[in-house]
Amino acid sequence: MSRRKQIYEGKAKVLFEGPEPGTIVQYFKDDATAFNNKKKGIITGKGVLNNRISEHLMIKLNDMGIPTHFIKRLNMREQLVRKVEIIPLEIVVRNVVAGSLAKRLGLEEGDELSRSIIEFFYKSDQLNDPLVTEEHITAFDWASTHEMDEIVTMTLRINDFLSGLFFGAGIKLIDFKLEYGRIFINDQIKIVLADEISPDSCRLWDLKTNEKLDKDRFRRNLGNTAEAYQEVARRLGILPENSNNPIDRKID
Ligand code: C5P
Repeated sequence: MSRRKQIYEGKAKVLFEGPEPGTIVQYFKDDATAFNNKKKGIITGKGVLNNRISEHLMIKLNDMGIPTHFIKRLNMREQLVRKVEIIPLEIVVRNVVAGSLAKRLGLEEGDELSRSIIEFFYKSDQLNDPLVTEEHITAFDWASTHEMDEIVTMTLRINDFLSGLFFGAGIKLIDFKLEYGRIFINDQIKIVLADEISPDSCRLWDLKTNEKLDKDRFRRNLGNTAEAYQEVARRLGILPENSNNPIDRKID
């Protein structure tokens, strides 16, 4: 990593000051954590793959009219993004019962939901990212009602779009997490999609076999996590068909 000024180090990424005001360099690490940091590990090559996968998905979303923080990929592990004021919420969309929803309500993982569900979690490691409602969000001024309307509308569009995109790649989009931020343009506030979209933040199951192709492989010690991420990249057309090592391949 270079000598640029580090702004923030998260669990899977490091943020550096960008070359121009209002920009940030997002560096993708191989570090993996789960259960709010209780489980830690390294998934070799993950950062390279997530950088590429997130770039691919953000560009597609931009193209269909979703404003994102993404500007351009810089190299194997870094992308240039707009500096945003992060809204302290994790917006989770669920199409199929899994993970914390299954646990919380005693449901069977894999059951189709009759309609997609959006859940909001307050971003706080200290509090374990508690589930909150729109009432909490607006009462505590984490976001305004107008911003929440925009966020929900964008989130539903993103779900429709990504579900179709992954379906075309033989993958079921079970659930995923989004984060949004504010940018300020001449006193106007604009909400943009921020952070990343990758197998770290999505549950992705093979359409035919339901094999997990996401971070649950790490969370549940299923093995072959890096290979699963590579498979996602390959199916999205990011890696050549027969490649298996992201580091050695021409993915730059
Ligand atoms: O754990 P849970 O079932 O609530 O996760 C729902 C979705 O949000 C999963 O795809 C998971 O990978 C993602 N998520 C995330 N970061 C978190 C919590 C959940 O990316 N801190």
